[in-house]
Amino acid sequence: MSGIDDLPPLRDVIATHELAAKKSLGQNFLLDLNLTAKIARLAGDLSGADVLEIGPGPGGLTRGLLAEGARRVLAIEKDPRCMPVLAEISAAYPDRLIAINGDALTVNPLTHLTPPIKIAANLPYNVGTELLVRWLTPPDWPPFWDSLTLMFQREVAQRIVATPGTKAYGRLALLSQWRTDPKIVMELPPEAFSPPPKVNSAVVHLTALPAPRFAANPGTLNMVVAAAFNQRRKMLRSALKSVSPDIEDHLRSAGIKPTERAEQVELEAFCALARSLDQS
Ligand code: SAM
Repeated sequence: MSGIDDLPPLRDVIATHELAAKKSLGQNFLLDLNLTAKIARLAGDLSGADVLEIGPGPGGLTRGLLAEGARRVLAIEKDPRCMPVLAEISAAYPDRLIAINGDALTVNPLTHLTPPIKIAANLPYNVGTELLVRWLTPPDWPPFWDSLTLMFQREVAQRIVATPGTKAYGRLALLSQWRTDPKIVMELPPEAFSPPPKVNSAVVHLTALPAPRFAANPGTLNMVVAAAFNQRRKMLRSALKSVSPDIEDHLRSAGIKPTERAEQVELEAFCALARSLDQS
């Protein structure tokens, strides 16, 4: 028994199922169930919500989400070795856990979930940013989820909440702050994981706004900020030269000096630039 449920402690689960962590799958497991229950609580009231979890691994956060009362959890895990463990958790929480062996980048979660939906995950570092950008850039808003509660390397978490004029400011800050309210809600040292990663980690909670802060087409905004920060030391008129032959006019019509650098430009101006490009 483990404290939050009647299932065995995670160290025993990992030993019994021989789940030696694989670096290639970004496996750094959380073994303290009190900690995973705390992360589940950071996702807010789960009692009336379905939760999508990416990368449950041996199931620490999954058990936290279920113990905290999630109506249903859909857990998508790439490593087939974890499936027997997830089946045991499913048996302990009848009809509340659906575990799918697959790649989160290709599985459509919506066939299994009913709103309201929250997403909670200790993300594999190799696909974490790509998943976040996908969740932030659907064509329509609001999205299928109400909130994201996600563990990242601390440096990535800082990029999500970064403000203009800082080194961390870039595409992740702009896309996150455009359509959500992101906050770092917890920091964790390497020792919280097995094996310990080289860097600190942090949990970010992003609440979906009812509407984006400023109008813009997500594809255009994503493209223009990616290009602008790809060459962040250059003036925008040269960093964005390939985006449009009339880029200086578009920059001026968005209220941006063509000699400015991406780091100085606020979200509202990037949205105006995306709109100007779409109008032409
Ligand atoms: N949630 C567990 C925990 O907190 O202890 C494990 C977190 S570990 C950082 C990331 C998990 O994501 C691993 O179990 C790994 O196998 C899984 N994973 C890696 N790539 C994946 C992908 N493309 N789709 C789904 N799961 C993936």
